[in-house]
Amino acid sequence: MKTIIWTILGVLLVSPSTFADEPAFEFPEGKQCAVTISIDDGFWDSASQMADLLDKYRLKASFNLITSWVKPMKTGEITDSYNEGADHGTWPQWKTLLDRGYEIGSHTCTHPALPTIDPEAYEKEISDSKRALIDNLGVAEPVTFAFPYNQSSPEVKAVVEKYYAAARVGGKIFNQPGELDLYNVQSWWPYSDTPLEEIVAKIDEAEAKGYWLVIGLHGMNEEGWHPIAPEKFEGMLKRLANDDAIWTATFKDAAHWFETHPVQQPEK
Ligand SMILES: [Zn+2]
Repeated sequence: MKTIIWTILGVLLVSPSTFADEPAFEFPEGKQCAVTISIDDGFWDSASQMADLLDKYRLKASFNLITSWVKPMKTGEITDSYNEGADHGTWPQWKTLLDRGYEIGSHTCTHPALPTIDPEAYEKEISDSKRALIDNLGVAEPVTFAFPYNQSSPEVKAVVEKYYAAARVGGKIFNQPGELDLYNVQSWWPYSDTPLEEIVAKIDEAEAKGYWLVIGLHGMNEEGWHPIAPEKFEGMLKRLANDDAIWTATFKDAAHWFETHPVQQPEK
């Protein structure tokens, strides 16, 4: 009888993770999940407004620029309807965000769907955009990449791996430690009419399950594909800032953590 009681007590006292066959993963400073805000296309008006809100909540995000669209523009015309006529900022403007601690990543030079163009052209888009970030902003390694239209292919991915530390696509909502491919990081994109409650629910789920959630956005107000309302953006930031268990990290910082902290396999 005594033995049974001690066994039960022993079982109750060990931490829940001891039971699980699931591998254990440690986030920094005892956090329970990671959330990254990854913002594409480089809409300057939105970016400066977003950065002011992010600063207010002491959070950071990643801005992925289409480097030939930054003024003075290196291409004649923008044919993408979401970007036509938009202000993509100047290099000195983006430098101020870099200096405030935001990540500036690459979203190519001219925003093509990379798998649809020839290898020489996509290698140029991938390599020259990184070079532009280094030359114009002094961006330091590691540099990260976001695929236009979230479109990748094994051939394009292999070229991205030559130049960048990590890359983002879309597709599945969450990234699970232990099943993470740093060049195929998944992201979730709320629509303009997605309610704040649904965004918060995704953050809650990432926290409950210990996942990395990358939230993809473009602009605010009327800028870009499915812009987010400033009040909703701020509501999301409040949710992130008011919870010590959430690690809100730039794409680069989160990717680096995953790369350098392998998942502990359970003892057999
Ligand atoms: Zn884009």
